Amino acid sequence: MSVQFEPEVLLRRFVSAADTAGFRVIEYGSVGGIPLLAAELSPVSPKMSVYLSAGIHGDEPAGTLALFTLMSQRWFDADIAWHVLPLLNPLGMKAGTREAPGGIDLNRDYRALRAPETRAHKAWISHANSRYDVALALHEDWESKGFYLYELLKPPCPDFGYSILQAVEPVIDIDCSPEIDGFPARNGLLRPHADDSLETVDEWPEQLYLRQNNTSASLTFETPSSFPIESRVMAHVVAVKTAINLLLAPRIENTFEI
Ligand SMILES: [Zn+2]
Repeated sequence: MSVQFEPEVLLRRFVSAADTAGFRVIEYGSVGGIPLLAAELSPVSPKMSVYLSAGIHGDEPAGTLALFTLMSQRWFDADIAWHVLPLLNPLGMKAGTREAPGGIDLNRDYRALRAPETRAHKAWISHANSRYDVALALHEDWESKGFYLYELLKPPCPDFGYSILQAVEPVIDIDCSPEIDGFPARNGLLRPHADDSLETVDEWPEQLYLRQNNTSASLTFETPSSFPIESRVMAHVVAVKTAINLLLAPRIENTFEI
C-alpha cells in the first residue's frame, strides 16, 4: 500500500533546507495553488553545472525525499552550479497518481506541451538558457525488481553507469532482467534512444528534451516502489552522490562533449 505524501508540507521543508544551504529558490509557476519550485546555487566560477529533478510522476516520492535529504545534509558543493527541481508534478503527488490532472503523463509532454506544469518547466529551462554538465532525473518503478538506470551519454562512457549501479548495490537490489520497461537491459543499465534524434520520437520525455537541448549527459535513476521507502531514498542519494563524484574525478571529467 502506498503512503500518501503532502506536497505542500514536503515543499515547505525543502525550501527551508534550501534557504539554510544558501540556495536561491525560484517559483517558476504554480498549479492548484502549489508552487513549482527550482532551487539554484550560482557560484561565480562554477567547476560544473548540474541539473537535478524529481517527482515528475506523482506516485514516485522517493526522488523528492532524496533531494530533501541531500539539501538537509548540506551536501551540495558550493563550487558547482546547481539547478534542483524537487517536485515537477505536485498535484499528481497530492492525488497519489502518476499523471498530472487530466491524465497527462508529464514525462511524455515535452513536445505537445499539454500540461501547465510542462509549459512552465520548459519556459524555465529556456529562460535559464543553461548548459548542464549532467542532468539527473529521479524516478520510481512499480514493476521493477530492483534499482536500474537509463543512461544517455555523448559519447558513451562504458564505466559510468555501471559504477553507479555498483555503488547502489549494497543499499538496494539491482534489477538484472534482460528487458525492463520494454527496453533491452544489461545488469540494470538501459540505453534506449541513445542515438535517436528527437524528431523520431513522438512523445518527448523530460530527459530526451534536455539531452537534445541542454546537456550531453543524462541519467535517469529508477527505484523499485515495492521496496521500503527508506531504502529507495537512500538508493537515490547514493546514486546522485556517486554520479557527481565520478564526474569530478579526473578520469571521467573530460570524456563528455559539453
Ligand atoms: Zn517515473
